[in-house]
Amino acid sequence: MIKYIKEIFSDIWNLLLGMKITMINFIRPKVTEQYPENRGKKQPFERFRGELVIPHNENNEHKCTGCGICMINCPNHTINVITNQITTEDGKTKKVLDKYMYDLGSCTFCGLCTQVCPQKAISWTPNFEHAVFTRSKLVKQLNHPGSKMEEKKVAAPAAAPKKEGEGNETNVQQ
Ligand code: SF4
Ligand code: SF4
Repeated sequence: MIKYIKEIFSDIWNLLLGMKITMINFIRPKVTEQYPENRGKKQPFERFRGELVIPHNENNEHKCTGCGICMINCPNHTINVITNQITTEDGKTKKVLDKYMYDLGSCTFCGLCTQVCPQKAISWTPNFEHAVFTRSKLVKQLNHPGSKMEEKKVAAPAAAPKKEGEGNETNVQQ
């Protein structure tokens, strides 16, 4: 009998807890986004994956080497990296990016491509307005026309660390 009464009070308590949450949400100020009226007033959160891009600098240069690692790792075959072979001034053959094609319509925004890129050449923009009338318009070339790969600034080699005892000649002579 005591167990039965305890269960009744326990159930009432759980019911009240549920009603409390309902009431809190009932009186909480409503947040209704008036989209598209509020367009431009609010930004998606920082890590929002809206659209894949290849950032270019002011000289129309990007960091993509055309290695294709992002394309190989994309589970949806969303990326198509088309490269050309060129001959450099010193006679060497080099692979360069021709077209970086991205099909936004098949992208799941998983982020694998940006994670595996060794050059950090691709990133996300918060742009989420992608409505078009034909799916073919969602296939985009991400490298800008006439762009080329950014020249790497070769850092001066760091001085080798001195071994113990090296560089103390002056002290030895003294
Ligand atoms: S975006 Fe990165 S991983 Fe993809 S081809 Fe360019 S350098 Fe390679
Ligand atoms: S986010 Fe995922 S699906 Fe989209 S291009 Fe990158 S790897 Fe492919």
